[in-house]
Amino acid sequence: MTDNPSATVFDAWGVAPIINAAGPKTRLSGAIMAPQVVAAMAEAAALSVDMADLQAAASAVIARATGAEAGLVTAGASAALLLGTAACIARLDPAAMNRLPDTRGLARQVLVAKGQRNFYDHAVRATGARLVEIGLPDRFAGAGMRDAEAWEYDRAIGPGTAAILYVARPGALPRLDEVVAVGRARNVPVLVDAAGQLPPAENLRAFTHAGADLVAFSGGKAIGGPQASGILAGRRDLIASASLQMLDQDERFDLWQPAPGPVRKGEIVGLPQHGIGRSAKVGKEQIAGLLTALDLFTGTDGGDHMAARRARWHQETDALMAALAAASGAPAGAATGVAVHGYDKGGVPMVELRLGAGARLSADALYVRLQEGRPSIRANGEVAHEGVLRFGPLCLRPGEGRLVGERVAALLGGANL
Ligand SMILES: *Cc1c(COP(=O)(O)O)cnc(C)c1O
Repeated sequence: MTDNPSATVFDAWGVAPIINAAGPKTRLSGAIMAPQVVAAMAEAAALSVDMADLQAAASAVIARATGAEAGLVTAGASAALLLGTAACIARLDPAAMNRLPDTRGLARQVLVAKGQRNFYDHAVRATGARLVEIGLPDRFAGAGMRDAEAWEYDRAIGPGTAAILYVARPGALPRLDEVVAVGRARNVPVLVDAAGQLPPAENLRAFTHAGADLVAFSGGKAIGGPQASGILAGRRDLIASASLQMLDQDERFDLWQPAPGPVRKGEIVGLPQHGIGRSAKVGKEQIAGLLTALDLFTGTDGGDHMAARRARWHQETDALMAALAAASGAPAGAATGVAVHGYDKGGVPMVELRLGAGARLSADALYVRLQEGRPSIRANGEVAHEGVLRFGPLCLRPGEGRLVGERVAALLGGANL
């Protein structure tokens, strides 16, 4: 620690904080937590608690927020996918729980539309599950217009099928309710990856409402919880299995008294020792922080924190746009090769900067120059190859929107804007 009032905890190790205009990306340290969330984590860190009691209480909170029967706080959406898959494979068999990722002799196939494959399904595969790709999404090649269809899931189901994985996205095909109908008819649970589908807050309930058996959310993205937290919400028996596979259960079965919640003693013949989820354990601090953030996100304490957050987001994106416009002295125009426009992404105001041939820097070059500056500014460069940089307010601190706008304007040269 130093007496410098602007010094941060990171300075002690020579690490400089960044201005994160890219959004709650994991590699950029996820969300910024509200003071109430930070306080809850600090208080929890200084106390001891029985983790089973805490997770049972978390289950009730998550059930209220999502409409699901039960829930579990996990170490992230990825951990929720791991535990959700493990639950679908092992169910309530402690011998299977002890064996994973050895899935020989168990139903271990997880069906997923080929067009929904992504590297987060590593977490699904880590359980020992085998992915079975459904459909051939020729719409992505521009050579056709179809994606996987519900009947194709139906035809792929057999005795070796453990679950269906569905990666949620606006406009995803086939529709979730169609996939759920197949799963229901064939008694195969549907696990939804909804990690990035918040806001809108209504999506906390939407996938359960559509019939999903398990839904994974990120706690460290828009919910504003700890970076290493997530939610698995869903059917009570599957959540019970996931809970039993997360922590060590080094207890004699006859002495074991599960906290009132998803786990029921009468349903299992014995306790597993260490489950596949042991390496993705979640701490009391994450649980306290996530539950507090979830309360703020859903406004269950009566306050409209979401409206307040949205107002703060607009303040930052408005200031960013204003700084760009002020530097130009004129409305940003295509004639100079730079176009700025604001848009809405699921209730979050965003700013897009399109850099044409007349601009002083390409989108790639601007991305790098922003990153190299002090403090380092991170933009969303996902479509920089198309000449576009995007800026989002989710992780901006008060005043940072203006700083980002001013830096961009300076780098592009005021007159050029
Ligand atoms: C971010 C993300 C994840 C992983 O979430 P974590 O909470 O960081 O583990 C999984 N799936 C999708 C689609 C995501 O966007």
